[in-house]
Amino acid sequence: MARLNHLFSKLSQSYLFPEIEKRIAAFQNAHPDSRPLLDLGLGDVTEPIAPSIIAALCKASLEMGQLNSFRGYGPSEGYPFLREAIAKHDYVDLGIHPNEVFISDGVQGDMGHFQELFASDSKIAIQDPTYPLYLDSNIMAGRTRTLLKTGRYGGVTYLPCTEDNGFIPSPPQSAVDLVYLCHPNNPTGTPFSREMFKKWIDYAKTHRAVLLIDGAYSAFITDPKIPRSIYEIEGAQEVAVEFRSFSKSAAFTGLRCSYAIVPHALRLFDFGATHSLHALWKRRQDTKFNGVAYPIQKAAEAVYSEQGKKEVRAQIRRYLEQAELLHHGLTTLGMTVYGGTNAPFLWVKTPPKTSSWELFDHLLHEQQIITVPGQGFGQKGEGFIRFSTFAKPGSLIEALARFQSNSSFLAGASG
Ligand SMILES: *Cc1c(COP(=O)(O)O)cnc(C)c1O
Repeated sequence: MARLNHLFSKLSQSYLFPEIEKRIAAFQNAHPDSRPLLDLGLGDVTEPIAPSIIAALCKASLEMGQLNSFRGYGPSEGYPFLREAIAKHDYVDLGIHPNEVFISDGVQGDMGHFQELFASDSKIAIQDPTYPLYLDSNIMAGRTRTLLKTGRYGGVTYLPCTEDNGFIPSPPQSAVDLVYLCHPNNPTGTPFSREMFKKWIDYAKTHRAVLLIDGAYSAFITDPKIPRSIYEIEGAQEVAVEFRSFSKSAAFTGLRCSYAIVPHALRLFDFGATHSLHALWKRRQDTKFNGVAYPIQKAAEAVYSEQGKKEVRAQIRRYLEQAELLHHGLTTLGMTVYGGTNAPFLWVKTPPKTSSWELFDHLLHEQQIITVPGQGFGQKGEGFIRFSTFAKPGSLIEALARFQSNSSFLAGASG
């Protein structure tokens, strides 16, 4: 008799996005004649893939149909041409060797799988609020205890990201084994400073912990004082794995290509010997992964061509300009707004005595605008909602006009 993995039943039932969909559907059923909804909640890009990248994708696809250029299985860790381009362009002067770059089909999968390398009773720490992947994949692996009434899980070290600490947590007093840090954090839009990364590197060295850095939005970091990579800080190669994706930076959400940096210097002492995480991850990928499609890796390589770089930078600039526009508009209405300068998200405080779901409902019903309630990203996300600037430019302008025409609620007046 097949039996189920009972750990799946521990996952939170009220998963955020299905609940949002449900409320939108209910609104639309009740108001079939409503003006169009404006979606400012998107976690997916809205601009298409840039022309030079599509050209590379098509060219490589045609190669696959010719006898002398056809390619079958490639290396599980990716083709050297892409690994070299990444090391050369994204890690200039940081001493990352192409051999330390593992190509994959998404940060989602990689960060969900990487924990397989560690003991099942490893203690994890996650930011609160943050992207739900880190917690849920560890629930599935049995690293959490029971779901508490607060919505938190026993056995997990939560790292509060609040207004008081600028949404960037310091290391805890207690020892943990695996630390998930999202840089810049989705949903708050805040990146780690060099000083804060340094504190975490010191912590990891002291407790022999491993830092798992989600850099899905690193390309949006524009402030020169903010490190794009944790490897800009000394000692990081001994304690940190960094995951990055072409998804949000180059519109690859539907193509699927990402990479993980697993430095050779990252070694763990266990069973009386030191072990290389690089070797373990290589073994894991060789067993369970057969690599990313050749045309997609060629498309990713084109992101680093002169033309590709130009096009991709312009896309990111447009998203950040939209963020600035929205930031300005909401601030003018009297709202308290964070993020948006180094990330495509704004983290907006709800009016007094208004929960994040209440503000979500208000915006849906009164203004026909879709957002994401902060509570869905963790207990400390309560009191905030997330706006995304992955939106059509016209819909942002229209949203601002709607806010202005009905702004008393947002500015904190009752009702
Ligand atoms: C979108 C997103 C991902 C998913 O990245 P893929 O490479 O498309 O799997 C991972 N982490 C964060 C924080 C994200 O927002």
